[in-house]
Amino acid sequence: MTQTVRGKTPRNPSTPVAVIGAGLGGLSAAIHLRLRGYDVTVFEGQERPGGRSNRVIQRGFVFDTGPTLLNYPWVFEELFAAAGKRLEDYVQLLPVDPSVSYQWPDGAQLELSSQYDRLLDQLEALEPGVGKGLARYFKDAQAKYALAFNKLVTCNADNPLAWLGRLTPREMLRSGVWRSLYGELGRYFKSPRIREAFGSYGMYLGGSPFDLPGIFTILAYGELAHGLWLPKGGVYGLVEGMVKLAEDLGVSIQCNAPVRAIRVLDGAVRGLELSDGSREDWRVVVSNVDALTTDMQLVDDPAFREAAQRRSERVTMTPCVYTYYWGVRRPLNDIGHHTIFLPSDYRGAFDDLFKNKRLPTGLPFYTSVASATDPDLAPRGGATLFVLVPAPLLGAANGNPAALDPGSIREQVIARLNQHGVDLTSKDIVTETVYTPRDWRDRFGLYRGSAFGAAHTLFQMGPWRLPNYAKTISGLYYVGASTTPGTGMPMVVLGGGMTAERIAERSK
Ligand SMILES: Cc1cc2nc3c(=O)[nH]c(=O)nc-3n(C[C@H](O)[C@H](O)[C@H](O)COP(=O)(O)OP(=O)(O)OC[C@H]3O[C@@H](n4cnc5c(N)ncnc54)[C@H](O)[C@@H]3O)c2cc1C
Repeated sequence: MTQTVRGKTPRNPSTPVAVIGAGLGGLSAAIHLRLRGYDVTVFEGQERPGGRSNRVIQRGFVFDTGPTLLNYPWVFEELFAAAGKRLEDYVQLLPVDPSVSYQWPDGAQLELSSQYDRLLDQLEALEPGVGKGLARYFKDAQAKYALAFNKLVTCNADNPLAWLGRLTPREMLRSGVWRSLYGELGRYFKSPRIREAFGSYGMYLGGSPFDLPGIFTILAYGELAHGLWLPKGGVYGLVEGMVKLAEDLGVSIQCNAPVRAIRVLDGAVRGLELSDGSREDWRVVVSNVDALTTDMQLVDDPAFREAAQRRSERVTMTPCVYTYYWGVRRPLNDIGHHTIFLPSDYRGAFDDLFKNKRLPTGLPFYTSVASATDPDLAPRGGATLFVLVPAPLLGAANGNPAALDPGSIREQVIARLNQHGVDLTSKDIVTETVYTPRDWRDRFGLYRGSAFGAAHTLFQMGPWRLPNYAKTISGLYYVGASTTPGTGMPMVVLGGGMTAERIAERSK
């Protein structure tokens, strides 16, 4: 192994780099580092790569464990293009349109589509005359989206003034960060239902749409403008494509190789200790393990861990989730691929989750029937049904613990599905896997079970987000949902490029 000057990131681009974790961020970092000439080895604790984006197969039913909504396909196209390859030679993307359907307890519904006229018809049913507002929303969100991705999201920013200084005063005003997401949506739509649907992305960002910054109106726009997709074989098909790309480039991926510790001496990374007790020398380590878990559990330096513990208390995390993977013995024709079941008391549900720290009253949840788009995911005549229920962070939950019983949540979900005409009984569910927040924490190292990592509050974005390098340990870098630029498949893939850039910059 190449040895380098202690305390300095190596200058030689053929330097070996260890990546801990083969989540999408870890894979992206490995690919980008390899493209810059580094010699990359990935250590993955689980039996297969993918991290949260994993796979469960039971009696012919194939489920994605985590992400199910794939948007911003250009991010993945750019990743493959950076390697001189074409995404479509590795991953077949199937369009999902109508994309997401929203259902309210009183029977109101809204179906989103990337086809403008179809979308307009749907919105008109909730707000007659919405056309002008929708056109303005598209125009403004398009500008904000360009602003965000060209100037803010993908730059390694350390200095708030320099970061914000990238925007002209006009762009600053236009960004919408000064209003809440819900308030910003109110500039275009009068209907609370439309605002609730477009604001519901807040859950994944770890905040209420009444608190999160208005720039996040770009999320619904991004999905509408660039479409929603399912890789053939499920989202895991994307993981397989990225693994193949990484291996084609010469990245070594070792599974069943959990890392026990990142060895540190005199403020510099010295190597890794694997769970079998073996020790390896490394001078550059990228951790794709949740950044807070890395700092508090993996870094072998008590003072650093203590400081991380104190820092963690100030970090706002996204919520936990209960996820159910049901193999259903008959087709589910009464429900589309992606559906969000919203509660009557929308604001109250967000308050319950984020302020009162309990399971939201009215139990909002999300379902995905991926076999509706790719029938090969279920045995003939059957369907896959994935259910995601948001819940408070581990260690924070208030209220009745019985409410958090997975069996009780399951019954409520089935009852709500029945209320909307989905003819499903327990007997129709022939295979079941459930991941509770503890499972998410223990399987993938998610700090306090937080499903999506650090939240995207205003002061946890850009230069205020957990950085992708350790300020006091030379040679330690991060990639993934809790670090910059943020959570979600496209973001962690972009983050891989940013971490590689950071390493190269610090090697100069
Ligand atoms: C239920 C759920 C639904 C989601 N839905 C969506 C969605 O629809 N769309 C979307 O874009 N995003 C979604 N997300 C978010 C998205 O999954 C994440 O932002 C993204 O996948 C995180 O990737 P990551 O790079 O941070 O790595 P992770 O997926 O966290 O991977 C980290 C890897 O590190 C490994 N590891 C941990 N500890 C060790 C160790 N000690 N040694 C070695 N390896 C270790 C883990 O096994 C894992 O493979 C969802 C997340 C969840 C949980």
